[in-house]
Amino acid sequence: MDDSSSRALRSLPSVSDILSDPKLACSNGTFLPSIVVSVVRRRQEEARQAILNGNASAPEMLLFRVLADLDALASGASDIVVNGTGVVIHTNLGRSPVSKATATAMAEHAARYQALEVDLETGERGGRGGDVERLMRLLTGAERTLVVNNNAAAVLLTLAATCSGREVIVSRGEAVEIGGGFRVPDVLTRSGAQLVEVGTTNRTYVSDYEQATSERTRAYLKVHASNFAVVGFTAAATVAALAPLAAERGVLLIEDVGSGCLLQTADFGLQHEPTLAESIAAGAHVVCASGDKLLGGPQAGLILGSEEVVERIARHPLARALRADKSCLAGLAATLRHYARGEATEHIPVWWAISRESGWLKERVLGWKRDLGLPGLSVIQTQSVVGGGSLPGRTQPSWALAIEAGSANVDDTARRLRTGAPKIVPRVVDGRVAIDARTVLQDEDHLVLAAVRGVLT
Ligand SMILES: *Cc1c(COP(=O)(O)O)cnc(C)c1O
Repeated sequence: MDDSSSRALRSLPSVSDILSDPKLACSNGTFLPSIVVSVVRRRQEEARQAILNGNASAPEMLLFRVLADLDALASGASDIVVNGTGVVIHTNLGRSPVSKATATAMAEHAARYQALEVDLETGERGGRGGDVERLMRLLTGAERTLVVNNNAAAVLLTLAATCSGREVIVSRGEAVEIGGGFRVPDVLTRSGAQLVEVGTTNRTYVSDYEQATSERTRAYLKVHASNFAVVGFTAAATVAALAPLAAERGVLLIEDVGSGCLLQTADFGLQHEPTLAESIAAGAHVVCASGDKLLGGPQAGLILGSEEVVERIARHPLARALRADKSCLAGLAATLRHYARGEATEHIPVWWAISRESGWLKERVLGWKRDLGLPGLSVIQTQSVVGGGSLPGRTQPSWALAIEAGSANVDDTARRLRTGAPKIVPRVVDGRVAIDARTVLQDEDHLVLAAVRGVLT
């Protein structure tokens, strides 16, 4: 070890030096002394290693790092951001924010006891998820709904409970990777079922399924191509077209629709996205979907279908391992109530965002620019996307507030928006940092103004 390193090691503040620093005394009130000591020790060890590796920083940095660690631990909301990306269902930003009523229902049910598995009339043990089931039946026609943690779990459980040891026929164009390691062929294999691929990547017909069907066939699995589109010379056998064949051959017809859509996307200038009701009506025996994509509820997986088949799935041992918690069930029910009341586009944030007209978004951005009254801002036209694996390749016209920073400053401006107070995750359009108005929530205008002011002044 050279002289400068040993000098740097000697000048490192000790644990007790740091613990007695008045700056720490002001900020550490909320944590146990043992917690604070652990934080200090970790940072001290890190500083010691840095010195030994020849990249020492100033001794006072140690205290600042400890203070920053304690601040980060203290603030539970330090990761909350405004979504300025124009991607409505943004996987990296937590997908769908829920409605206020949903958030309230989730918080209340989390903080109190509830009749989760008790029939209050008889006092006997009852089933979970009664409200979700009743509302889903009214909204989609599905006799029964089982709620699990996410759609990946819904598909895995459905296949494990109904197809283990048997063959499942899937179109080559649908044996896809959804993202995050969810590959249809792998999930199928894990469930204990055997994959039989039919057709070609771009064209698969009912006759392909028919020819591959044997006494070993248990199910036809249809998977919604979520994150890509096959365009041009294509053909797929729809659920409606497969239903008669499935009935004739005694085969289960399972559809993974991806997004649990309950509204008509075509009403908002978007390509048609299959709704849960359409899938049930077309003859799918089991429909799997996410609760937090286009449904706009809490993270959940939905398994919809007939009493008989869903009951069978619910009794599989994996169902217990994958079941949704009480807050999730309460939140889903609150979200479904918005649909039943016809108020989804006003209360459910993803539908509020999707249903804003371009002209309204332009006025909103002009208002931000006017209220800010600062130089270096402009109003630009953009294209926003629904995202989250829905409606691949389709965009909606939108508007954004662009911050004119020299091109060298683009990364720095974006970083300052992301790390400021409040925090905004912006998008970059034509080399400019921009905040897309479509994904800024209804009550977040003041946050945009504060964040932009913070960056520009
Ligand atoms: C998103 C998606 C999944 C996975 O759903 P999670 O809720 O993320 O687990 C499965 N299948 C399809 C078709 C999807 O789009």
